[in-house]
Amino acid sequence: MIRSLSIISGVLLFSLTVWGCEQNSSPQTQKEWALALHGGAGTISQDLPDTIRQQYYDGLEQALAIGADVLRNGGSALDAVEATVRDLEDNPLFNAGRGSVFTSEGKHELDAAIMDGSTLAAGALTGLTTVRHPVTLARHVKDNSRHIFFSGHGAEDYADQTEVERVDNDFFHTERRYEQWQRAQERAHLNTEHSWTREPGEKTIYDWIEDLKFGTVGAVALDREGKLAAATSTGGMTNKQFGRVGDVPIIGSGTFANHVAAISATGWGEQIMRNVSANTIANYMEFNGATLDEAMNFVLTQRLDPGDAGFIAVDSNGNLSMQMNTAGMFRASLDSEGNKVVMIWEDE
Ligand code: ASP
Repeated sequence: MIRSLSIISGVLLFSLTVWGCEQNSSPQTQKEWALALHGGAGTISQDLPDTIRQQYYDGLEQALAIGADVLRNGGSALDAVEATVRDLEDNPLFNAGRGSVFTSEGKHELDAAIMDGSTLAAGALTGLTTVRHPVTLARHVKDNSRHIFFSGHGAEDYADQTEVERVDNDFFHTERRYEQWQRAQERAHLNTEHSWTREPGEKTIYDWIEDLKFGTVGAVALDREGKLAAATSTGGMTNKQFGRVGDVPIIGSGTFANHVAAISATGWGEQIMRNVSANTIANYMEFNGATLDEAMNFVLTQRLDPGDAGFIAVDSNGNLSMQMNTAGMFRASLDSEGNKVVMIWEDE
């Protein structure tokens, strides 16, 4: 009697454990395709005037529609993330391509990366000054070069050997970013005094200059062939020092894709780099059997500090996750089942 009772309770315990695990994991329905994009994370005031708010929503919707069309029609995840990011690079609201922030020298230096999760092939560039669509040059590097990452003069020289569209550096100028840069210049001592390490609870530079890091763009996608890809493009941080490289073109930090997930980051590049954040999300899933949501939450809460960053990601089942530890993140997503999100703040 005692023996059969203990067998029954053993079976019950086992069933409950299995049930509990299932409750914790994301639904495992396989989506045919899925796409997410971001237009930067940071302190985005909820007082944003309705007209400007609408412009952002429209910009996110437009880019989402372009990328989704590629995937719906059987195009590749790579083509989808490139097309999505190209559109965002042309939108002056975002800090990538036209609309990029100013360096401390009053110029624009652009970074971008793209990665194919099915092959681990990647292309990355930093310090571009005349390439209209950095993401397309990154794609060119990925497709054609035996190298992954070009910088400064080498990156421009690489562009000379391609057909990518070139522009004067002034092309990237927008009044809004210029004013933002001038404000940042006035407070430049904050930049130089900032030590890039901080005590818990200490104010960061962003407590004073709220929109220093706004507007980087990125996209992640799963295509009908089950392939994943990620792309990110940015002007970097306002008033950044000449030659500064952020997280975006560092494969594994701001941009990463493998067979598990595709991830694009936005936020304080130095913090994202220190924690090799995008790669950590994919590895946390693979090594711990965690869901995409759990892995992203781990990096945002256990590795990064409040106010540091936001991520968009998709896994091989087409589960999408978009989370941030900042007040807001311009973001949007759509999958083959018609689930659509276009949001700026946590609760809308
Ligand atoms: N992560 C970018 C950088 O540090 C900035 C951003 O996401 O807006 O260059």
